[in-house]
Amino acid sequence: MAIQPVRLFGDPVLSTPALAVVDYDKELRKLVQDLTETMLDAPGAGLAAPQIGVGLRVFVWDVDDELGHLINPTLDLSDDEQEGDEGCLSFPGLLYNTPRAMRVVAKGFNMFGDPITVEGSELLARAIQHETDHLDGILFIDRLDTALRKEAMKAIRESEWFNESAPTIKVSPHSGPF
Ligand code: ZN
Repeated sequence: MAIQPVRLFGDPVLSTPALAVVDYDKELRKLVQDLTETMLDAPGAGLAAPQIGVGLRVFVWDVDDELGHLINPTLDLSDDEQEGDEGCLSFPGLLYNTPRAMRVVAKGFNMFGDPITVEGSELLARAIQHETDHLDGILFIDRLDTALRKEAMKAIRESEWFNESAPTIKVSPHSGPF
């Protein structure tokens, strides 16, 4: 049981695609536990392994009072979209309207290696897309339109956390961050 420091934007691990999990062993179950505890402590609505410096395809979520985790996910996205503010624990304090698919069917495995399917809409769908992006080295600011992305980059450059190395800023749990 250990809460890990959350890596912030600028850390190369966040832009590196993560590797598929091969061994469903004790180490993996500890990783899921560490991710869950770190997410609950933050607090956040989701957390992916690269955010604590582990380059494996694993993430957890806490949406509508339900905890979950998924390993080696593949996603099937709906054509209809949703709008809404989205944040990320790797970008403390920043929220931007980020378009996402409204519904998702995610297939993958639980920490024991059993195949599972997770169906979600709205916030759960948003969390699953956000976390799966993390596993591909994609960050939520990459999903913003050009003008908004420019605004986000300016806010990041002006933020305290980007200019200092004391990453312990707490953020509001409203609609994320993930
Ligand atoms: Zn995130």
